[in-house]
Amino acid sequence: MTTQFPHIFQPLQLRHKTLRCRINFGAHTANMSLDGLPVDQHLGYYTERARGGAGMIVVEPVPAHRFTKLTRGNFRADDDSVIPYFRRITESVHEHGAVILQQIYHVGAHGDWDNSFSPNWSPSGLPSMHDSDGSHAMTESEIEEVIEGFGRAAYRAKQAGYDGCELMAAYNAVIEQFWSPYCNRRDDRWGGSFENRMRFSTAVLERIRKYCGDDFIIGMAISVDPTRPDVLSLDDQVEIAAWHDARGLYDYVTVGSGSYFEFTRIIPTFVYEEKMGPPYAEAIKRAVKHIRVQAESHIRTPENANYVIASGQADMVSIVRGQIADPHLVNKAREGRPEDIRPCISCNQMCWGRRSRDYWISCLVNPSSGREYLWGGDRFTPAERPRSILVVGGGPAGLEAARVAASRGHKVTLAEASDRLGGQFRLAGMQPRRAQILDLIGWYETQLQKLQVAVKLNTYMEPDEVKAFGADAVVIATGSLPAGTGYQRALPQESLPGADKPNVWSVEDVMSRTARPGKRVLLLDDTGNWRGVGTAWHLAEQGHEVTLLTPDAAVGRELVRTSADGPARQRLRRLGVRFLTESAVTEWHGDGATVLDLLSGETRRMEFDALVLATTNVAEDSLARTLVDSGIELHAVGDCVSPRHAPAAIYEGRKLGLEL
Ligand code: SF4
Repeated sequence: MTTQFPHIFQPLQLRHKTLRCRINFGAHTANMSLDGLPVDQHLGYYTERARGGAGMIVVEPVPAHRFTKLTRGNFRADDDSVIPYFRRITESVHEHGAVILQQIYHVGAHGDWDNSFSPNWSPSGLPSMHDSDGSHAMTESEIEEVIEGFGRAAYRAKQAGYDGCELMAAYNAVIEQFWSPYCNRRDDRWGGSFENRMRFSTAVLERIRKYCGDDFIIGMAISVDPTRPDVLSLDDQVEIAAWHDARGLYDYVTVGSGSYFEFTRIIPTFVYEEKMGPPYAEAIKRAVKHIRVQAESHIRTPENANYVIASGQADMVSIVRGQIADPHLVNKAREGRPEDIRPCISCNQMCWGRRSRDYWISCLVNPSSGREYLWGGDRFTPAERPRSILVVGGGPAGLEAARVAASRGHKVTLAEASDRLGGQFRLAGMQPRRAQILDLIGWYETQLQKLQVAVKLNTYMEPDEVKAFGADAVVIATGSLPAGTGYQRALPQESLPGADKPNVWSVEDVMSRTARPGKRVLLLDDTGNWRGVGTAWHLAEQGHEVTLLTPDAAVGRELVRTSADGPARQRLRRLGVRFLTESAVTEWHGDGATVLDLLSGETRRMEFDALVLATTNVAEDSLARTLVDSGIELHAVGDCVSPRHAPAAIYEGRKLGLEL
């Protein structure tokens, strides 16, 4: 065992169970169920993290009541039919040495009618934080129905083999709504005084203990959002945790950040600092005497986990995205090889970015996430017949194809035309606060070296050179190029008049420092993602006066799904970036642009020194097209097939690497 992270690997007693380490895989909505039942996809997903060394796994929430539904994939509430399905998961996770809990929630006012087709029940009938719906103030008997729902859900979990349950009060769910004087305006025994506001959680916890007995862990998930004066403050949460602790009502508390008012701090992107939850956990830990305290929120790495535990901020940590990205994070840390941990890049693109659109979750850097039951996780099957593989192109698709093929025993050569690996992904990593992408490229470099992939930089391969190389199979991953036309979705023209003038640049030109734009820059963002937003941020930090123009109603439309749009817009504004929304450019004049207001149809001439185009690229498929009838076994992956986001490139690289 490594001594590199000594604090992580001290076992921890949690009621009747001993956790083998201090890194857990906390609750989050994987959103994979079919017809409300846990399926093979869940089984593979949770088993892989147990196999990878997690101490405790908390399975995504089951609703405490049939009216509280938040996602398409919520498990069936109040229905014993889930028990045998959950039992498969608990048995498999136990087999791999982890403790397993079931999260149970009731989101109160914040349910989703499109999923529940029911009114949202809350303490005082206040509006949802999610949408414009109001809620129904519960009667006494309805409160009892929900308390009983929690008790029965916990008992069902016990029957399914869970070691305990975790209740979600966090993000202003119904338990917190009862705690909060802002959400709880009742004047009966459930509201008013502090003791009355604690009555609901006390009743829920006592009911669970009564139904499930002593050998059953009970946890409580809470969160702190310092940006909102109308949710409980850290001081309130400290007082509430100490009150429950003094009465022995639960065994641990897990402390995160954010609220449903503002999702951005619940699952923070790279825009935010790391270790957001630990300072809150530390305050709680100082105030409690008996319970264990878990910290969560942007802890990400074993180094962070070790620091949090060593410094006494918490007894254990939850790392969710870090273990989505690398299910074997814990074992790799235990074996003293942290350089092999595939880093989560805090992008939220395929985890929260899919969940927020009600798909099952996956991962940009690890497309096996959610596909473990199909692809066997990160344990690749050796190739039946090792062959020589030539990969042309060292962007994300080529890197992943080369890595997986070499892991399976193929002899791989990777040829990259430039002097570095990473392709356009490297340029993205040079945008402000996106350096975690460079860490990922560094991880690929390490892995390719360990796998003895022959990496040839500055190697542009002509079709004849590919043929002469004589590989058994060739992977074309030559990426995409800026279109340079200034095509905009909002206009019926294929190209922008004036786009061929010398002071027109692509985002790639800017980020590779090829461009020398003048002071006043018009950035035409037809994509709504980090290509435009991150380049505008970079230019503004360099001292340019930036105007970001978009056909959309708000800047960063495609970042909404990752909850990064608000923080990104805030930073652009603070840097003085001007926004022109619902607009298009009808002509570039060399010293300015004619700008069209898409709502009024009016045009105006505006002066700028340079135009930067953040528009959709075109496939660089010339090599693939030339070789298509050459008789070579040829495979094309990533942007050279069709320009898309990095997740598509890595997914196709992984899939091909498994098939070769
Ligand atoms: Fe991390 Fe991005 Fe993967 Fe989510 S999609 S786990 S944020 S790398």
